[in-house]
Amino acid sequence: MKLLEQRILSEGELLSGNVIKVGGFLNHQIDVGLLLEMGREVKRLFAGEKITKLLTVEASGIAVATAYGAVMGLPVLFAKKHGTSNLSGQMLYAPTHSYTHNVDYNMVVERRYLSPCDRVLVVDDFLANGQALCSLCSLVEQAGATLVGCTVAIEKGFQSGGRMLRERGVRVESIAVIDRIEDGKIIFRD
Ligand code: 5GP
Repeated sequence: MKLLEQRILSEGELLSGNVIKVGGFLNHQIDVGLLLEMGREVKRLFAGEKITKLLTVEASGIAVATAYGAVMGLPVLFAKKHGTSNLSGQMLYAPTHSYTHNVDYNMVVERRYLSPCDRVLVVDDFLANGQALCSLCSLVEQAGATLVGCTVAIEKGFQSGGRMLRERGVRVESIAVIDRIEDGKIIFRD
């Protein structure tokens, strides 16, 4: 989506480790209008899929998924990164590795919020090596729910996650795909 690409070009900052900082509209300050526009695109892409729920992971996935949920009229479930006393009942866990913080942790959701009747679209902000999406997909699978696909705002196409998930047969739709970074310049895939 050109609108998102333009924002990445005008405001994105390249950090070490191929991390792209988009705090001005996605990860810190949030441009709600942009997220709603992205939600309309996701709704169009997955039209007819009879999705019942969006699943993301805290923290930065929540804003994206909430905007999509508003556009699509769907509930949003987010995996927590740590079991807290706020959680009760039977849990589903999926180990994962944080790309940006370089730590291992468990994603956790209460089982009661994912049922075998659910048709789930997994949502996140970035796709790099695919650990976050794989763990979210594992939660869907553990619940016996149907995985409709995954959607991310920004896929870093030069990292392995997108290819790995698609090779596994998972439908992945990305609103913007960065093909490569050349001499500090972001180049998008057509
Ligand atoms: P993956 O699990 O695919 O390796 O990484 C995706 C997760 O790491 C996302 O949930 C996202 O929060 C974070 N992430 C990966 N790459 C970037 C990046 O370039 N910029 C930001 N802001 N987050 C990233």
